[in-house]
Amino acid sequence: MERTALQLEVKHSLADLKRKANTDHLTGLLNRYRLESTANEWLREAVDGCENIVCIVIDIDHFKCINDQYGHLFGDEVIRQVTEACASVLRKEDLIGRYGGDEFVVLLRGISLDVGVRKAEQMLEAIRNLNVGCDETPIPISASLGVADNGKGTVLEFNDLFQRADVELYQAKQDGRNQVSVGGLLDKQDVQA
Ligand code: GH3
Ligand code: MG
Repeated sequence: MERTALQLEVKHSLADLKRKANTDHLTGLLNRYRLESTANEWLREAVDGCENIVCIVIDIDHFKCINDQYGHLFGDEVIRQVTEACASVLRKEDLIGRYGGDEFVVLLRGISLDVGVRKAEQMLEAIRNLNVGCDETPIPISASLGVADNGKGTVLEFNDLFQRADVELYQAKQDGRNQVSVGGLLDKQDVQA
């Protein structure tokens, strides 16, 4: 009997350790390690069926200023609220993880680039609509988003797909922030189809 209880305790501790190893402590989202490994599995599975996978990279605008002006703990709360806003427009089968700092990655399986762009726009809208305040002063929050896809199974590594979306994120920042920028392997005709 005692042995069974001990075995159960070990089993629970192992499950807890595994969960912690895969989770971002601040947001409860997947951490970068788990995000990358799951994304790589998805990308390899997508090859046979030529399945389209969309990657969206999200980075909060001028987040350093928020930290500097209102403090690091308040910044943490903004990170949590931004992730909740993003998650609120996702399906349960979509993947969302914290890549690091104020940067998040979303992966959408089995959808076209144009539908992915619409999702990104919905996430931006949800972020803009956040009601975040300090001492009753509302603080406007926005983010820049880069979107790219795996060209229907032709990109095999998460790092390559991430790179494409990250280039677009950089473009969104360059173009003035608070917007979505799209790129990828498909030409414009495919995007509009
Ligand atoms: P940009 O619009 O170009 O993205 O400007 P930015 O100020 O947001 O610049 P950047 O994305 O490089 O800044 C990220 C900042 O996020 C820097 C770092 O101090 C802060 N940061 C990273 N991790 C955390 C965290 O867990 N909590 C808080 N509060 N801040 C964090
Ligand atoms: Mg930022």
